[in-house]
Amino acid sequence: MLELPLVLDERTERHGEPREGDFVVYWMRMAVRGHDNPALEVAIQAAERLGLPVFVYWAISERYPYANDRLHTFALEGVRDAARELADRGIALAAHVQREGHRGRHLESLARRAALVVTEDVPVAPFPRWTATVRAVAPVWEVDASCIVPPRLLGRGFTRAFRYRDAAEPYRVDRIGRRFAGATPTRSTLPELPFTPVDLEGDLAALVGACAIDHGIGPVPHTRGGAQAGYARWEAFVSGGHLKRYARTRNDPTRPEGVSRMSAYLHWGHVSPFRIAEDADGEGARKYLDELLTWRELAWTWCRYTPDHDRVSALPQWARATLSAHEGDPRTLRSWETLARGRTGDPLWDAAQHSLLRHGELHNNVRMTWGKAFIGWTPDAATAYTAMTDLNHRYALDGRDPASYGGLIWCLGGLDRPFSPELPVIGRVRPRGTARHAK
Ligand SMILES: Cc1cc2nc3c(=O)[nH]c(=O)nc-3n(C[C@H](O)[C@H](O)[C@H](O)COP(=O)(O)OP(=O)(O)OC[C@H]3O[C@@H](n4cnc5c(N)ncnc54)[C@H](O)[C@@H]3O)c2cc1C
Repeated sequence: MLELPLVLDERTERHGEPREGDFVVYWMRMAVRGHDNPALEVAIQAAERLGLPVFVYWAISERYPYANDRLHTFALEGVRDAARELADRGIALAAHVQREGHRGRHLESLARRAALVVTEDVPVAPFPRWTATVRAVAPVWEVDASCIVPPRLLGRGFTRAFRYRDAAEPYRVDRIGRRFAGATPTRSTLPELPFTPVDLEGDLAALVGACAIDHGIGPVPHTRGGAQAGYARWEAFVSGGHLKRYARTRNDPTRPEGVSRMSAYLHWGHVSPFRIAEDADGEGARKYLDELLTWRELAWTWCRYTPDHDRVSALPQWARATLSAHEGDPRTLRSWETLARGRTGDPLWDAAQHSLLRHGELHNNVRMTWGKAFIGWTPDAATAYTAMTDLNHRYALDGRDPASYGGLIWCLGGLDRPFSPELPVIGRVRPRGTARHAK
C-alpha cells in the first residue's frame, strides 16, 4: 500500500491502489488553486513515490446542470489563476473546454493510461456520478480539499448544528492553522493528449461563446473568478476591520461589507478554506469561524452521509409530516417564469431574486426569507425544493455546493426543529414571512 503522510492520508478515500501506468493525473475540479491544496499534494506525493510524472487535468463540460456563461466564465477565470500558480511551481496543467469540434471522452482515455487518478471528494451532483465513470477504468483517490474537519473522520451526518459543533470540536483543535505547503514534483510534463489544451491566457469570452450552454445568463462583471480576485476581496474584508465587526454587521443586508462574500470563491476552491480559517483569528472572528466551520462543514458532512440530500425524502420525519398535512391549504401558485424573473409582486422577494439575477449572490439574511417563500407558491414541498434549487443553482455563483443544500433544506425544516404555533401552509416549519421581514 502506498503510504502518505497522516495529514493527507486522513483526507483520502482510496478506491484501489496505483497500478502500472504512464503518469499520475490530478483531475482538478472543485479545489481550483495551486496553493494549499491537499488533493494536489496527494497527487504529487503519489507520483514521487511511484517515480512517475504528474500533471493536472482540468475540464469544463457543457452538460453540468445549469451550465451557463456566468458559471463558465467564473470557472475559467479561476483556472487561469490556478494555471499561473502551478506554472510557478513547475507543475503542468492541461485544460479542456468542451465545445463544437472539441468533444470526446478524453478523461476516460487519460485515466486508462494512468497509474492513479487523484481528484477531490465532493458529495454533490454531478461529481459522484462522474467519479464513478472514472473508477470503472482506473484507481481513483478522492481527497477532501474543502473542509477543516474532513467529513469522513466523523463517520456520519448530523441533523442539528449544535450536535455537529460538539462532535467536530475535538477534531478542529489540531487542524485549524494546518496548511498544505507545496512540494515541487521531480517530473511534471504533459503526456501525449487526446485533445488540444485551451490557451487560458487567450480570449476566455470567445471560448465561453463557443460552448453549447445557456448564453442568457451573463457573467457578473464586478465579481471575477480566481484566487487573485478572491483574496483581494478577503483582504479588503479583514483590513477594513469588517471581520472584527462581523458578529454585529452580518445580519444587515443593507451593508454588503458586513459579510465576507467569500462563498463563491470557497465553492469553486479558488481560495483556500485553510487559509481563511487561519486568518480568521481572534475574539472578533469567533462568529465568522462558526459560520465557516460549523454551518459550512455541517452541510458538507450532511450531504456526504445523506445521499438523497437533493430530495425532500432527506427532511426529518416531523417536517415531511407537517408539510404533507398542510398540502391542501389554499396558496397562490407562481410559475417558474414569474419566480425566475422576480415578478411575484412581493417587493422584498422580487428584490432578492433580482440580486441573484444581477449579482449572482444573495445576502444570507434575505436568502433565508427568499427560500422560505417557495412553499407558499408551489403545490407541495417536493416542488418547492426543486424550484428553489433550480433558481439557486442557475443564478448563484456559489450554487451547486453542499452549503446550497444545507441552506435550501433548512427552508423546509431540514437541519432545524419544529416550531409552534402550527401555521397554514408551512405547518410547524420555522416561519419567516417576507412582509414581516420587509418591515
Ligand atoms: C436558501 C439558502 C440557499 C443557500 N445557498 C447557498 C449556496 O448556494 N452556496 C453557499 O455557499 N451557501 C449557501 N447558503 C448559505 C449562506 O447563505 C451563504 O454561504 C452565505 O450567505 C455566503 O455569503 P458570505 O460569503 O458573505 O458569508 P459570510 O457571512 O461572510 O460567511 C463566511 C462563510 O461561511 C460559510 N457560511 C456562512 N453562512 C453559512 C450557512 N448558513 N450555511 C453554510 N455555510 C455558511 C460560507 O462559506 C461563507 O462564505 C444558502 C442559504 C440559504 C438560506
